[in-house]
Amino acid sequence: SSSHAALVIIGTGMAGIGLARALRRLGDQRSITLISADSGDDYSKPLLSTGFAKGLAPDKLAQRNAAELGDELNARIITHTPVAALDVDNRTLLLDAGQAPNYEKLSSEKLSSEKLSYDTLVLATGAAPRMPFSIDPSVAPRCFTINDLDDYRRFHQALGQGPARVAIVGAGLVGCEFTNDLHAGGHHVSVIAPEATLLPRLLPAPLGNALGDAFNEAGIRLCLGCTIDSLAPSSGDDIVLRLDNGEAISADLALMATGITPRTALAEAAGLSVSPSGIQVDRQLRTSHPDIYALGDVACVDGVNAMYVQPLQASAKALAATLAGTPTSVSFGAWPIVVKTPLLPVVAYPPTTPPERWRIEGEGGDISALAENKDGRLIGFALTGGCVRRKVELSRAAPTLLG
Ligand code: FAD
Repeated sequence: SSSHAALVIIGTGMAGIGLARALRRLGDQRSITLISADSGDDYSKPLLSTGFAKGLAPDKLAQRNAAELGDELNARIITHTPVAALDVDNRTLLLDAGQAPNYEKLSSEKLSSEKLSYDTLVLATGAAPRMPFSIDPSVAPRCFTINDLDDYRRFHQALGQGPARVAIVGAGLVGCEFTNDLHAGGHHVSVIAPEATLLPRLLPAPLGNALGDAFNEAGIRLCLGCTIDSLAPSSGDDIVLRLDNGEAISADLALMATGITPRTALAEAAGLSVSPSGIQVDRQLRTSHPDIYALGDVACVDGVNAMYVQPLQASAKALAATLAGTPTSVSFGAWPIVVKTPLLPVVAYPPTTPPERWRIEGEGGDISALAENKDGRLIGFALTGGCVRRKVELSRAAPTLLG
């Protein structure tokens, strides 16, 4: 037998929960089932990279657990249960309940079958960490990624009580935020990345260098322009990262922050249109299949997958309206990314096409960089230090992300 629900949402991240909440806010009473591979805790993912400075225990980051969430939303929440396949012709999900050893204990509801049918399906499966190289089993227990609350729990546990030496691989947003946060939490941090400057996809080099200077002055070790030749166990519990420039870094833990990839496998296997940027959806968040929608980090909306919170919130609102009977197209404003690096505040709204020139002004840590097209129009910007206060003024002048 299979249990029945009108709306099934796969994923209990900010996108999946945000959609369910937006529907209830509209007064929509339909039956909603949320199903998740993880614990189903309702938490704010951006806070993961602010928790170590404050010494926050993992449970302090969860606003409510799955059972409380189910009560709030009047929804059924199935946790620790990966969806293994979609059968779009029969509108059925195939579940992998056997995957989770603690399934009965942790799930807020025990499923009577391994199938779940839907009338409408929403894919909110997020994005998974990308690994640049395979990690040898001998060092795997010391190597981490932090992309959800369960990851944060594991890393928090591994850090232990005293200060730890943490090698962070990757100089993007996640790498730089954890660098600043772990440093503020009293840990000894090294950053290793192949690019020559920090935040290479968000900041032109002079601003990346300004952030690098702030990190250096704080005592953070930067190994930029380097790749890792080997990652091996050493004496005791140490690991050693050998770099292509001959340097060796000893650490207690390695944190891999080497990018994320939309989790499109389910959709792709079911024959939906996907690309490396995500599941292809139109402005109404509809996939190539009429009963199936997608939003959040997994969705590429009319060619744009922004992978941050404001676009997914706008998507949740628009999709809730559409599902409740008012077809609504989503649009994304000129929403800059605020990087949580208190050692030097950074705000960036990267241009979507390569700019003709960057107009860079300022000195020390206070720099503004304006990206212009060949007609001299502002198409993006990046700000550091005191210049971050130009955020509102420049956002008003910049083109929207998805008009
Ligand atoms: P996720 O939160 O990844 O949720 C995906 C869900 O799908 C999970 O519940 C997962 O278990 C489930 N799932 C996946 N596959 C399956 C399956 N097969 N079966 C069942 N369930 C499945 N953005 C900002 O705007 N500002 C910030 O300051 C900011 N800081 C960040 C800091 C960090 C450290 C990180 C990692 C990200 C940050 N972001 C920030 C990005 C932002 O957090 C994400 O864009 C957002 O959380 C994505 O939400 P989501 O619901 O799409 O995906």
